[in-house]
Amino acid sequence: MIPKSFQYHSAKNLNEAINLLKRYDDAKILAGGQSLIPMMKLRILSPAHLIDIGKIEDLSYIRKKDNGLMLVGPLTTHSEIEYSDLLKKEVPIMPETASQIADQQVRNLGTIGGSVAHADPAADWPATLLALDASFKITGTGERVVSAKQFFKGPFETDIREGEILTEIQIPLQNGRIGQTYIKFERRAGDFATVGVAAYVEINRDGEIKSARIALSAVAPAAYRVIKAEEILVGKRPSLELVEKAASFAAEQAEPTSDLRGSVEYKKDMARVFTKRALKSALEKAGVVLR
Ligand SMILES: Cc1cc2nc3c(=O)[nH]c(=O)nc-3n(C[C@H](O)[C@H](O)[C@H](O)COP(=O)(O)OP(=O)(O)OC[C@H]3O[C@@H](n4cnc5c(N)ncnc54)[C@H](O)[C@@H]3O)c2cc1C
Repeated sequence: MIPKSFQYHSAKNLNEAINLLKRYDDAKILAGGQSLIPMMKLRILSPAHLIDIGKIEDLSYIRKKDNGLMLVGPLTTHSEIEYSDLLKKEVPIMPETASQIADQQVRNLGTIGGSVAHADPAADWPATLLALDASFKITGTGERVVSAKQFFKGPFETDIREGEILTEIQIPLQNGRIGQTYIKFERRAGDFATVGVAAYVEINRDGEIKSARIALSAVAPAAYRVIKAEEILVGKRPSLELVEKAASFAAEQAEPTSDLRGSVEYKKDMARVFTKRALKSALEKAGVVLR
């Protein structure tokens, strides 16, 4: 299919991109084009103006700050994250997530910012960024920072308002006994998730779970945190029984739809199974031997 005709604008810097967004009513930002272009070809979306931010070099970076934040520019590609030595060391769940997105060609072009702004309920980044308690810097008339919990509103719906651009992903870094894992259940290599689960745990000196965050994608209108499961983990000594209990809460909260990837019942059960696996893996990475 061929998209409807549109006017193409290449922005040289962020200011120009924001001004173009404000000037044209029916305009869309173009980053890697890996979600927008297919939607335009299928004529699900037909914006009159495309504002290409792909040449704005200072929107692509991975930086560790002294204030305990890892900063990732929205134009950073999935591949750049997959192969980043800094992220492998500091936030290993990020390269782990990136490596499971689509195939190498898509990962070379698609960006983390595009994925987050697109907010496909089956995308991989939202679960991981929720589990990391990330925040998003959004720039328009001014600048504001929104937590991941507030950012993902529904299917293809985020807190980004008209005239605004996602300009940074901020990830808090923690020291200590930490384990983090993203696992994805896919029908075949390169497919979108049937379910994706991100788990993050921190273990205190007494061997108890100090903090836990679990987030799921593909089994609800938007990726979500399983707060009830997190609450039962905190303050307890990790055990297989506890992990199983937490995983059953994840399945309870899932609201999948029946489609080619499976029935509602099947997907709920996969949410349970993969939450259990993700939690076990995160705990093992934090040095816990589960009994
Ligand atoms: C064959 C195929 C398989 C895929 N498989 C997976 C998969 O397994 N898992 C997965 O998670 N994703 C998958 N994707 C999607 C892929 O990850 C995309 O790269 C990503 O969703 C969008 O990133 P992009 O840079 O290409 O954004 P674009 O397509 O350029 O833009 C997507 C949307 O975000 C908006 N946007 C982009 N950047 C910004 C910004 N900085 N501020 C505000 N709005 C912005 C655009 O206006 C548009 O609405 C797949 C895509 C393809 C084509």
